[in-house]
Amino acid sequence: MQKYILIYLLFLLVTSCEKDKFEGIELSIGNEIQVSSEQQTIRIALRSGSDWSFASPTSWCRASKISTPQGDTLVINTQVNTTTTERTGTVTISNSDQQKILTVTQKGEIYFELPVIFHVYSDGSANDAKVTAAYIQECMDYVNNFYRGNNGKSENLNLQFTLATTTPEGTPLVEPGINTIQSSSTSFNVDNYLRYNTYNGTQIIWDPNKYINIIICSFTEENVTGIAMTPYTPQGKSLPGLRRNDTYYTSLPTNSVQAVMINKTFVNKLETGAYGPQPVWPTTLAHELGHYLGLFHVFSGGDNGQTTDYCEDTPDYDRPAYDTWLASVPRLTFAQAAQRQDRNGNTFTSYNIMDYNYGYRDRITPNQRARIRHVLDYSPLIPGPKIAVENSSRATIITEEPLILK
Ligand SMILES: [Zn+2]
Repeated sequence: MQKYILIYLLFLLVTSCEKDKFEGIELSIGNEIQVSSEQQTIRIALRSGSDWSFASPTSWCRASKISTPQGDTLVINTQVNTTTTERTGTVTISNSDQQKILTVTQKGEIYFELPVIFHVYSDGSANDAKVTAAYIQECMDYVNNFYRGNNGKSENLNLQFTLATTTPEGTPLVEPGINTIQSSSTSFNVDNYLRYNTYNGTQIIWDPNKYINIIICSFTEENVTGIAMTPYTPQGKSLPGLRRNDTYYTSLPTNSVQAVMINKTFVNKLETGAYGPQPVWPTTLAHELGHYLGLFHVFSGGDNGQTTDYCEDTPDYDRPAYDTWLASVPRLTFAQAAQRQDRNGNTFTSYNIMDYNYGYRDRITPNQRARIRHVLDYSPLIPGPKIAVENSSRATIITEEPLILK
């Protein structure tokens, strides 16, 4: 019995010495962490020999402290890195005996190059509108300048649309970005074209994982300038409003057409009307590509009974009410017509590319940017490298109906 007591006393002595010995600071993940370019919250278990404090001088990387009876946690919040360059920040943790520096390295964003192919329907007749390589290039330059934020007003998306130079089989294209389709029918009901694959568009488009497909034809709905299929996101990393699908990483849709369509009738055309001429194709392309990359309209009451665009930094307004007002006022300047009234009765100016006329259509907001970057990083059927997402429930793979927007 005495022997056991002795051993017990020795044990107590050893453990209490162990406890007294630890005076430092220990982080569960070591002294360095690597994080992605996205906005993130990282929780790190922390053991300290005495009361501790922290300092986080890096503006994009802020720390906070949580203390519970179970232990202490150092919480790191990183802001999105909107550049393509890696950056490093530090958090200093101190107690009465030690100072420890945690180094946080955040990756830059991937610069996405998105090959674009224009499939141009042509019946070869004399009055068939000609879509020249020069005009396509002009439109793409406009769109790229816009998506890079070169106007100094819009966000830089860190992406570039490039004109495809080869076919899927590797054959060089005579004119970059142009695939002419000889066809006796060149006018289509575009809703049916995309949603139901009524005209066999799946046979026309090239692999959407490698190309953004833009179909050029006449629309039976003559006043519509463009239409786009919205993207899918994986179930484990879905985005509000978008359809979820975990199968399109390995298979292609067969009942719908993942593409953008632009009305050929408006090629080279200026939109006239009371408020001055504007080329139709460049802004329509920028708008439809916005849909294709996950954006909704900034107004309510449009397609699909939409009531939100899931972005807090775009004021919402009632589109039908605006149209009624526009029709009721005989003379307006462009600046007047670009005014809107939000849901709280406040007046604002329309600058967003995801609005309809009349507006300046020269902005993408930070929240819209975040949606597009999410789609680029995770969505199937979008060119470029994808971040793998663990499929939480393979037994219930969700496959939802396509969603198209004009
Ligand atoms: Zn639209």
